[in-house]
Formats: sequence, structure tokens, C-alpha cells
Amino acid sequence: MERIIIHVDMDAFYASVEARDDPSLRGKPLIIGAMPDERGVVSTCSYEAREFGVHSAMNIKEAYKLCPDGVFIRPDFEKYRRVSDQIHEIWDSYSTASENIALDEAYLDVTETAGSLDKAVEFAYDIKRRVADEVGLTCSVGVSYCKAAAKTASEEMKPDGLFVIPSPEDFVDLVIDRGVRSLPSVGKRTAEKLRGIGVETVRDLLDRESEVASMLGKHGAALVRLAHGIDDRDVVPYRPENAKSVSREITFQANVSDFDFLKDVLLLLSFSVENRARRHGLRGSGVVLKITYSNMESITRSRMTASSDIAFNVYRETSDMLNTIERRPVRLIGAGIYNTSGSKTRQTTLDEIAELGSGRMLMEAALEDLQERYGIDLSDEAAGGYRIESLHGTVEYMRTHRPRAA
Ligand SMILES: [Mg+2]
Repeated sequence: MERIIIHVDMDAFYASVEARDDPSLRGKPLIIGAMPDERGVVSTCSYEAREFGVHSAMNIKEAYKLCPDGVFIRPDFEKYRRVSDQIHEIWDSYSTASENIALDEAYLDVTETAGSLDKAVEFAYDIKRRVADEVGLTCSVGVSYCKAAAKTASEEMKPDGLFVIPSPEDFVDLVIDRGVRSLPSVGKRTAEKLRGIGVETVRDLLDRESEVASMLGKHGAALVRLAHGIDDRDVVPYRPENAKSVSREITFQANVSDFDFLKDVLLLLSFSVENRARRHGLRGSGVVLKITYSNMESITRSRMTASSDIAFNVYRETSDMLNTIERRPVRLIGAGIYNTSGSKTRQTTLDEIAELGSGRMLMEAALEDLQERYGIDLSDEAAGGYRIESLHGTVEYMRTHRPRAA
């Protein structure tokens, strides 16, 4: 069946909320995140700051170098959460299913509620007007026949944009001469691989379909379909529980006695567990650490937790539990969550979201620090920011290239 999907995305959300609430900040380069003298990253920045080259997820010190006169503001997640609830309430009233990607971003399935593309475009205008009138903020809206094209559309006229991509043909016409990075699922790594076989633009990709598909496997096949404007993913408001636990473990090629190194491995495992949990729409209430010593004796330690940032939770609890176990050579280390249940973003409480913000920044900073110490680069926008996929290879590289203890 033909579908009609809207993608809505607030413009520079945290920064816009701050500017809305304090007129003296308007028109200034606002950088929401860590303070310049701290370790951390840019969470969001205003369009004025973007003109200096600042962008989200950038190291805060780098942002300070680019924009020393910027206004640095600590995020107030409780406030953003309240505003987010208000916005989502408006959005939800137009759709039968809304998939919340972030506090400020969602896919809305309006196939039934709108019934036609024209009506959906009316919805889009309406949504923008109501968000402006009732919340005092701007958003960008994309209207299309699938998720990927709707997302592309919402980015097309940002900020305060509205763009419609009626059909797969229109999508292909729009992106064909752009770089492959303009396709929503293509990150830095994938783009590099494609460049390796001479594929720079979407047109190149369409010309070399079979090569791309065979080089990138499953991802390649989906990518080729997307280049043709085809994306069958549903808007998923809720994914029922389909697993009781999610975990990842690593067996080392040689036993490890350095517990600081094990903590570094736990950091990567935590992101990996989170990726898996997210893919299955799961959250955990318990965290588990598993260790197998060189004599094959295995132990597990577990703890209940309350907060909702999975990676932060797993890392905090497992590294803490690691401190409590006997220090003997380790052959295998694993981390996971259990007692999981299906969830969506909106069920998170105010306290959780506040912790989620600060925890997330600590995790980003820790991961950045780790990459620097080992001289590795794990960034990949397609993988939600970081590539933790080839974990075994990465960990073995780290194990054999360990920085000397200070
Ligand atoms: Mg946004």
C-alpha cells in the first residue's frame, strides 16, 4: 500500500529553547554542552555557531577554538524534556503511529489520517504553525512516501523548512548528483569504502549497483534499493519484548591481567550492548558483568539500575563491579542487560532524562579519550555516531597496542 510519512525535526533544538527563554541570547552563537575547560562535547549549537564550523558531537575544546566568543551553556534536560512532551503531543495528534527518534525528532505515519499527499502537506503546515504558536519554536518538516525520503525532505530546507518528495522518482532526481553521504544510511566509513571503488555520487552508485551490493553485503543491497528511492521500513511506535537479555562478550587471544585495559573494553562493550538493545527496542533494569579467568572459571556479577541511558548504565555498573572481583588473568569479558522490556523514548521519566544527558556526555568524552589513547577512529555517523561493529578486531588491536601506564 502507498504510505504517507512525515519526518519532523526541531531546528537546533536545545539552543532554540535557550534563546526562546532568554531574549538576550538571540542571534548569538550558542553552544550547548560541556564548558570549554571541561572534558566533553557539543550537544547542540545555534545556527550562528554553525557558521564558525561548530557542530554537534564536536569536542568542546575544538568548538572553543573555532568560536571563543560563543555563549557556552550547560544543557537543561528537564526543560528540554518538558518542551519535547509539548511538541510530541502536537505531532502525535496528526498520526496513527509516531516513532520518536529523539527528544526533537520523529517519524509520523499519516497514511490513514491524511489519506492523500495534499492533505499531508496541509498537516505539515499546520504542525509548523502550531509548534510556532503554542511552543514558540521552529521545526523542519518533510513529507514523503517513505522514511528515508521524508528525512531527506525535512533536511532539504532547514531551518524552518517544509519540503515534499512525492515519489521514488522525485527522490532519485533530487539526490542523483549529490555525494553518497546525502543518502540517510551512508556514514563516513561506508562513503570511504565506496570511494575506494570509485563511487562518489548516487549516480555512480546506480551505475555500479552489483559491485556495491557485493562489496557491502546486506547493507549494500539496502543501499542500492535506497538509491532507487525504495525504503520499506515501517514507522514503529512500539516494539514488543522479543528478548529477555542483551549482551556482548569478548574472548581475548591472550590472557589479560591489566584491569585498566579491561575497563576500556567495557566502555566499547557498553556502546555495543546499547546498539543491540536499541535495535530490538529494549531497555534493561539489570546490568550483568561476566568474567572468565584463564583457568576457565567463570563468574558473573549483576545489579539492578534505575536510569535509562543504556551505555552509561552498563559502563558505570560493570566497571564498578570489575573493581570488586579478584584480579587474576582474564580470558573473556562480557557485559549485558537483562529483565528487558519493550520501550519507546517517551516512557523515560524526567529524572532519567536529566541523567541521560550528563551520562551521555561522559560516555562520549570517555570514548573520545579512549580513541585518542589508542590512536583509533571509531566514528561513523551511519552507526549512530560510533562504529562498534567490528569489536573483536578493534579490541585485539587495542590489546596489542596498549598505551604505557602513566
Ligand atoms: Mg533537530
